[in-house]
Amino acid sequence: MEIHRANDPHGPPSALRRPALFCDLAGTLVALDENRELPLDDKGAIRIELLPGVRERLRSVDHAVPIFVVTNQSSIVRKRFSYAALETAMHDLNGKLGGIVSGWKVCPHRDGDGCLCRKPLPGMVLELAQEHMIDLAASTMVGDQEVDAKCAKAAGVGRFYYASDFFTPKR
Ligand SMILES: [Mg+2]
Ligand SMILES: [Zn+2]
Repeated sequence: MEIHRANDPHGPPSALRRPALFCDLAGTLVALDENRELPLDDKGAIRIELLPGVRERLRSVDHAVPIFVVTNQSSIVRKRFSYAALETAMHDLNGKLGGIVSGWKVCPHRDGDGCLCRKPLPGMVLELAQEHMIDLAASTMVGDQEVDAKCAKAAGVGRFYYASDFFTPKR
C-alpha cells in the first residue's frame, strides 16, 4: 500500500490524478524507413503512416484516459528534419487518429548530449505527468524498444506493453 504525505514532492495525491497512456512514436504508432527513422518524402516532410491496428486500438481507449506521445528524435539536432517539420507531422498524426492525442514531447538530442529527456530517461513522461495531473502508477506506456520499457520503469509508469502486443487484435 502506498502512503501519500501532505508534502509529497511529486504533487497532489493520486486520488486527484488520472491515468494516462504514453506512446512512443516511431515503430510504435507509425512506420519506419529502412534506417529505422521517420520516413521523409521528396520535399523533406515527415511521412506519417499509421501502423496496423493503431487507430482502432487508440480510439477504443477510455475517453477519460489522455493519450500522450513521447519521442526521441535526434534527427532534429542532426538536422535531418526541423522541429517545425515534426510539429507538422504530429498535427498530421493527430488528424489521422481523429484528434485523440492530448499532448506530446520530443527529445531532439543525441546520446551523450547530457539532456534529461532522452529515453530511457523519464524526463518527457515526468513533465507530461506534472502538466496534466497524471497518476503514473495507474498509467500505461507502449513502445517498440527496450529504451521505452526502461523509460516507463524509470518514470514509475505502472504497466508497459510492447507495441506488437498492444496493437495486435485479441483473438
Ligand atoms: Mg520507437
Ligand atoms: Zn533530450
